[in-house]
This record gives sequence, C-alpha cells and structure tokens, in this order.
Amino acid sequence: MDRITGKTGLTGLLGRPVSHSISPLMHNAAFEACGLDYVYLCFDAGEEELESAVNGLKALGARGWNCTMPDKKKMARLCDHLSLAAAATGSVNTVVNEGGVLTGYNTDGIGYMMSLKDAGFDVTGGKMTLLGAGGAALSILAQAAIDGLAEITVFNRRSKSFEDAVAVADYLKTKTDCRIRVCDINDRELLKETIQSSDILVNATNVGMAPDLEGCLIPDASWLPRRMIVSDIIYNPRETKLLKLAKEAGCPFFNGMYMLLYQGAEAYRLWTGVEMPVAMIKQRYFTG
Ligand code: NAP
Repeated sequence: MDRITGKTGLTGLLGRPVSHSISPLMHNAAFEACGLDYVYLCFDAGEEELESAVNGLKALGARGWNCTMPDKKKMARLCDHLSLAAAATGSVNTVVNEGGVLTGYNTDGIGYMMSLKDAGFDVTGGKMTLLGAGGAALSILAQAAIDGLAEITVFNRRSKSFEDAVAVADYLKTKTDCRIRVCDINDRELLKETIQSSDILVNATNVGMAPDLEGCLIPDASWLPRRMIVSDIIYNPRETKLLKLAKEAGCPFFNGMYMLLYQGAEAYRLWTGVEMPVAMIKQRYFTG
C-alpha cells in the first residue's frame, strides 16, 4: 500500500455499529480511481463519544465524515452551519470541515433524488406520495420539496414521527413553494385516492424489509395506476412486495440500492470537489 502518504486527507464514518458499512469500499476505490490523496476509515463511536470524536477529527484536520443513525441529530447540533435539508430535518449524515468550521449536510434525500434521475425520471412539478416519517422519509421530503416537487403527501401512523413530519413540513413551507400535507396512514380512502392522483409513490418505511418479506402498506396492484413511478428505498430484498405489486400493475419501479450509492457520491463531491466515478462503483459493489 504505497497510496497513503504524509499528506493523505482523512475522511470516514462515525457511529455504532459501523463495521458492516460498504462506505469504506466505495470511497477508497473512488479515491484511488480518481488519483485523490484521501482515505476513508470507519470509527466505532457511540453517542456518548460523538462530541469528543468530532473534536478529535477537527483537531486532526480531517476533511470530513459521515455519520450513521442514531447520531445524525446530535451531529447537526455539533455543526457550525447547516444545509437547507439538514436544517429542515435537524439531521446530518455528512460533515465538511473547512479549517475547523463544520458544515453539516443531509445527503440521504439527495441520494434518493439522484437515484430517481438515474432511473430516468424527472418529477419536477409533480405530486409525490411518501409513506413513512422516519429519518430517511424526512430527508426525502426535504430534498424533494427543495428540488421542486409541487405537492407531497406524507402518510404515517399517528406517532412521534407524525409530529416530527408536521414540524419539518411547516419549516419547508416557509422555504419552498411545495404544498405539503401530513396524513394518517390508517385513513385508507385518503391514502388510495392520494396515491391514484400521484406521479410517484415512495415507500420509506421499514415495512417490506427482510425478514418481513410479505410486508406491504398497499393491499393489491389495483391501487397502483399504470403510469405511476413506484419506488422503495429498501434494498434488502432487492424486490419488495410493493415492487412486486408495481410490476404486476405495469408501473415503472426501482429500489433503494442507488440511493445508498448516491448519498455517498454526494458526500464524496462535497469533500473533494470531484464527481465520484459512479459507473465503476456500481459495477464493482452494486451489482447482483
Ligand atoms: P426509522 O427512522 O426507524 O423510520 C421508520 C419508519 O417506518 C417510521 O415512519 C415508522 O413509523 C414506519 N413504520 C415502521 N413499521 C411500520 C408499520 N408496521 N406500519 C407503518 N409504518 C411503519 O427508519 P429509517 O432510517 O427512516 O429507515 C426506514 C427504511 O429505509 C429502512 O428499511 C431502511 O433500511 C431504509 N433506508 C434505506 C436507505 C438507502 O440508502 N436506500 C437509507 C436509509 C434508510 P412510526 O414512526 O410510526 O414507527
């Protein structure tokens, strides 16, 4: 390994657990392919260690880092500046360090919107039905509103996340022109009617994720109009029950694999100013 030098820039992932992450593979392969003198490492840091870990990375002059659940909200509070999506969600998964000044970004929503573009769709000015109001759903809500969706309806159970979604929606309404409603997922008539007048349906809940292979918030394919784009941000399994119904209904559909890729690609671009060679990374780590 003669790639690491005395000047190698440090990037990485903070959180617990982190050892399963695909991020070191994709970032280090991209740095090498682009001839960039950076390295990406995983740091096992729990919530109680997060602040001292951030101070340490700052003192060492790290270029930036990612942060996984459950620490994204705490990371937002440790940053000096926030992007609009990070401010809207109060949640940061990517930090850029400019001489000790930390700017926090939320690239999950950008990752989703880039995966949508990658799949060949443009829903600017369109209507989205978004299932879920957890961390990933709110990141998508924020970015989709910023990127020019005309209308987004979020459906969730009446839980703490429901209230969080109302707060994020209220904030976004002051910063974007998007019309946003937060509705009860148990209002089945409203759910069906809203889906049927949407351009795109997104499942951003855990429902359908392995081992819950039969889980699906939509009862059958008749709920899905043929022209509508259907997406599931779950990538295990590759084809959830919802995507099977989309196939049966003749809808275009895609899963969450490339959201994962593109949230990393955006972090890479923010740290280096260079586009990640996504075709190579896809081929190496996101096939099969
Ligand atoms: P989270 O913060 O825990 O949110 C989970 C969401 O699912 C909440 O809105 C929750 O509602 C809802 N939910 C769970 N069980 C439900 C049920 N039985 N009926 C209705 N709603 C239900 O999790 P997250 O981080 O947002 O992740 C959500 C999913 O996205 C996971 O499958 C995760 O793997 C996937 N994900 C994918 C990517 C990617 O890059 N592709 C990135 C992040 C996450 P309540 O609040 O009411 O419980």
